[in-house]
Amino acid sequence: MNSYPNLMQPMDLGFIVLRNRVLMGSMHTGLEEAPDGFRRLAAFYKLRAEGEAGLIVTGGFSPNRAGRLTPFGAKLTTNHEAAKHQLITDAVHEAGGHICLQLLHAGRYGVHPFIVAPSALKAPIVPFKPWEITESGILKTIDSFACAASLAQKAGYDGLEIMGSEGYFLNQFSVPKTNKRQDQWGGPIENRIRLPLAIVNKIRESCGKSFLIIYRLSLIDLVENGNSWEEIVLFAKALEQAGVNLINTGIGWHESRMPTIATMVPRGAFTWVTHKLKQEIALPLITTNRINSPQQAEEILAAGHADMISMARPFLADPDIIIKAKKGLENEINTCIACNQACLDHIFKHQTASCLVNPAACKETEFELVPTTVVKKIAVIGAGAAGLSFAITAAQRGHVVTLYEKSAEIGGQLNLAKKVPGKAEFYETLRYYNTMITKWKVNLLLNTAFSLDMLADHDEVVLSSGVIPRPSGISGEQSSKTISYQELLSGARRAGKNVAIVGAGGIGFDVATYLLGDGADTIAGYQKEWGIDTSFAKPGALKPRELTPDDSQIYLMQRKSGKPGAGLGKTTGWAHRAHLQNHKVTMWSNVEYKEITGDSFRIEHEGEAKNLDVDSVIICAGQLPQLELLPGLEQSGKPFHVIGGAKGAHELDAERAIQEGYMLALII
Ligand code: NAP
Ligand code: SF4
Repeated sequence: MNSYPNLMQPMDLGFIVLRNRVLMGSMHTGLEEAPDGFRRLAAFYKLRAEGEAGLIVTGGFSPNRAGRLTPFGAKLTTNHEAAKHQLITDAVHEAGGHICLQLLHAGRYGVHPFIVAPSALKAPIVPFKPWEITESGILKTIDSFACAASLAQKAGYDGLEIMGSEGYFLNQFSVPKTNKRQDQWGGPIENRIRLPLAIVNKIRESCGKSFLIIYRLSLIDLVENGNSWEEIVLFAKALEQAGVNLINTGIGWHESRMPTIATMVPRGAFTWVTHKLKQEIALPLITTNRINSPQQAEEILAAGHADMISMARPFLADPDIIIKAKKGLENEINTCIACNQACLDHIFKHQTASCLVNPAACKETEFELVPTTVVKKIAVIGAGAAGLSFAITAAQRGHVVTLYEKSAEIGGQLNLAKKVPGKAEFYETLRYYNTMITKWKVNLLLNTAFSLDMLADHDEVVLSSGVIPRPSGISGEQSSKTISYQELLSGARRAGKNVAIVGAGGIGFDVATYLLGDGADTIAGYQKEWGIDTSFAKPGALKPRELTPDDSQIYLMQRKSGKPGAGLGKTTGWAHRAHLQNHKVTMWSNVEYKEITGDSFRIEHEGEAKNLDVDSVIICAGQLPQLELLPGLEQSGKPFHVIGGAKGAHELDAERAIQEGYMLALII
C-alpha cells in the first residue's frame, strides 16, 4: 500500500511530468566555485535524482557580475560556463530526474564593492553599501536574466527558479523598505514588481513555453516595511498571468531577526502562509522551511496547504529520503536535524558544505564505501556519536562489529542534547542509528563495560569512550547546590529557581535553554516568541514579541571577554543568544569565580564583587576525554584507534565525532 498517495503522485505541468511532489530545494554547496566543482556537483545531484527527488533546483547562479554573492561567486553569463553545466543535467536526466537552475541576483546582499540595489541603502548584514542601479542598468539586468535563462536551457536544464525572496535583489525591488525610487521602478506596488515581471516575460519570450519557470516569492518578509498581504497576492496573480509555472514559498529575509530554518523552529512552521495564498490563486504552490520527514510532507499535502513540498537540507542528510519512504523504509531515513552546522555554517566559513549526520554529503566523488576484503572482528567501546558512526559504517562494509556501551542506551552526549528544547530532532538520529545497528548486524551490548580481558575476542579496537565533565576548580564546587550539566540534562538532579551557569559555551547555552523550558516548541509559541503576525496587520507581518513573564533569574557566565557563545554556529548562535535575551537571561563575560557557599555564589564581574543569590550552580566548564582504558590498550599490543571525544574533548561536537567514526570505518 502506498502510504504517501499525495506525495508520490506525479505532478503534470503540461509539457513536463514530475515523478512526485518533492522538490529538492536550492542549496549552495560551495562546489559551484570549487576546482573540479561541476564533476562533483554532477555526482551530488545524480545521487539525489537516483533517490527519486521529483525536481531538483541547483544552488544560485548570478545572471551577471554585479549580482554575485561574493567577488568570484558562481555566475552563468557565457557559453563556456554553460557547457560545464551539461555534466550536471546529463547526470540527472540519466537518473530519470528533472533539474532547474536557480538564478540568484544578490543585490545588496552581495559581499563585494560592485553590488547594486534599487536604492543605495546598506544591508545590516553586509559591509558594503550598494550603488543605486540606473535605469539602463535595470534594462541590462533584464537582458542578463534572459541570456542566463537561454544558456541554462542550452545546457540542458528543464527550467529555472528565479530567486525573488529572502531579501535578495528582486525582493529588494518589491518592498518599500529597500525601494525608494521615484521612477517607474519604484513607488506603488505595480512599479515595484515591474522588474521581476519584466524578467519573467523576457525569459518566457526567449525560452518558449516548454521551459519550467518557478518564481520563489517572498510570502512573508519578516522585516519592517515589507510587502503587505494584499501586495503579495497582487504580485502572485501577476506572476500567474505572466506564465510562471510554479510559485515557491520564500520565508523571511536574511536580515530578519528571527530564526526561520534552524532547529528551534518547529517543523512545518510556515505551511500556513502557503495555504493562505492557495485561497487566492490557482497556480501550483510549493511550501517549504523545516519540513524534514515524508510523513509530515504527506500531511501538509493532504491538508491542502500546498501542491508540492520543498526539502533542501533533508537531501544532504539522506539522498534516498524519498525512495526509502516509497519502499516503506522510513526508519532507515537519516533525518536532517536542522542544526546548520555542516551545511550553512560551512558556507559562511567559505568551506564546502556537508552534513553533520551524513559526512559523505558533497563528497560523493571522494568517499567510497566498498565491502572489505579482510573481515576483522572489531570492538567499539562507547556508543556515542563517534562509536555509532564507526560501528554502522564498518559493519556495512562487512566487518564483524561488537559495540560495547556501559549505559542502558545508545547515544552518549546525544541523549543529553535531545532533552534541550528545540533539539528533539536528535531522537531521529538515535532512531536511525538503532535501525542501522539492526540492519547491519552490529552486535550491540548495552549495560556492558568493556574490560581488557575481552581483547582476545577481537582483532582491533576502537576507543570511542567519549568525555567526562571538566571540574571547574571553583572553591566550594563540592557544595550541594552545585550540579553538573550531565546530572541536570539526564534528569538525575533538578535545579532550583534562581540559577548560575558556569561556562557559556554550547553546553552552557543548552542548559540555559533547558531551564527556560519549551514554550517556543509549538508553532503558536514560536510565533509569539519571535513576533510573527499571521494576520499581516502590518506590511512585513511583524508584531511585538509576547513572552510569558517569569520571576526566576538565570546567570550565564564566562571568564573570558567577548560575547558569550561567540563559538556557536555562525547561522544559529545569534538566535540562541536572542532566545536567552528574550527571556532576560543575564549573560556576563569577564567574570572571576570566587566561592560557592551554602548561601550564595561569590563572583567578581568586571572588577565588581557580587554575591549571587542562587539556588543552584550548574557547571558547564567543558569536558575531558574519558581515557580510562587507554593505558591498558597501549600495553596490550592490540591494534587500536581513538576517535571522538576520547581523542580530543576540546571543541568536541557531533559533527567531528560522526565524521571521525565514518572516516575510520572507510579505511579500517
Ligand atoms: P566549550 O564550548 O569549550 O565551553 C566551555 C565553557 O567553559 C567556556 O565558556 C569556558 O569559558 C568555560 N570554562 C572552561 N574551563 C573552565 C573552568 N575551569 N572554570 C570555569 N569555566 C570554565 O565547551 P562546551 O560548552 O562543553 O561545548 C562542547 C562542544 O560542543 C563545543 O564545541 C560546542 O560548540 C559544542 N556544542 C555546541 C552547541 C551549539 O552549537 N548549540 C551546543 C552544545 C555543544 P571561560 O574559560 O571563558 O570561562
Ligand atoms: Fe541538516 Fe545539520 Fe545536515 Fe545541515 S548539517 S543538512 S542542518 S543535519
